[in-house]
Amino acid sequence: MSIPAWSGRRAGEALLKVKAEGRRKDKPCIICKQGIDYSLTYPHEQSCSVQHVKSRKLYPHLTWEPSNWEPAHLSCNKAAGPGEDLGMGVTSEDW
Ligand SMILES: [Zn+2]
Repeated sequence: MSIPAWSGRRAGEALLKVKAEGRRKDKPCIICKQGIDYSLTYPHEQSCSVQHVKSRKLYPHLTWEPSNWEPAHLSCNKAAGPGEDLGMGVTSEDW
């Protein structure tokens, strides 16, 4: 099963959605649990990025599922590995 590419207009729209919801609910980073300054924009390290709760690698069909998106700092997202598909944020029971 191939992983859908996370790019283009769809990824941009997903980020806008995650940022809007994160800002409204004052959601912290799902990786480090610290607050996110939603006024920062890409490519600022502390800006909001889309983290897939269930990794795209293991759950490629959830790539475009909004309920699988949570905000994470861009730096945290990057630290999780190349791309955002290495399973950071996956809870233990998912494994
Ligand atoms: Zn973080």
